Amino acid sequence: MSLNRTAREKLVRALAVSVIEHADELTSLDQAIGDGDHGLNMKRGFEAVLATLPALADKSTPEMLKAIGMTLVMKVGGASGPLVGTFFMELGKALPEEPARADLVAATGKAIDAVKARGRSEAGQKTLLDVLVPVQAILAAGGDAAAIAAEATEAAERTTPMLATRGRASFLGERSIGHMDPGSRSASLLIGAAVVTLEF
Ligand code: ADP
Ligand code: MG
Ligand code: MG
Repeated sequence: MSLNRTAREKLVRALAVSVIEHADELTSLDQAIGDGDHGLNMKRGFEAVLATLPALADKSTPEMLKAIGMTLVMKVGGASGPLVGTFFMELGKALPEEPARADLVAATGKAIDAVKARGRSEAGQKTLLDVLVPVQAILAAGGDAAAIAAEATEAAERTTPMLATRGRASFLGERSIGHMDPGSRSASLLIGAAVVTLEF
């Protein structure tokens, strides 16, 4: 699981490209049940992350993840910046330098707990936790890259019929039903990019 410098740089680029290339899609999802800025928020954050390459990839994997998280917290307005940023920061804090799969399972669990605390939220409320939680369960159960990527996509799709009870979409009440949660979609894009690059 340990990443060399080339793999770290490749990972960062893949994460950034995954959301930047889908910014318009994320924006339309957020136009339906939010304020229409999710694509721009994520794009701004990951462009700022890309701007810190190549120095970012000189860091160890845990330090790199912490730095990505801090950049996202600082550069992304809206709810998603602090939440996605917290995920990366806590993942970096919890991972050892050369993580085994069990370390990744434990660290993603801690990072999800930190997101829950920050958002005062749980899975089932039509937020990015509805992707993070089931995907982490597949990871913990030993799923391979294909299983993890498939679950990320399906979990985002499963948010469509859900009623939002956290975040801006919750202001719409029943009208939040029938649209995919934008934060769940961006989380699924990031996870898809990560598993393709990490090849586990
Ligand atoms: P904002 O809603 O402030 O405009 P974004 O549009 O960038 O921020 O992000 C919205 C996404 O953030 C939602 O689709 C949802 O997945 C996530 N989100 C919002 N509030 C919470 C929360 N309290 N807990 C977890 N995720 C949340
Ligand atoms: Mg928004
Ligand atoms: Mg906003």
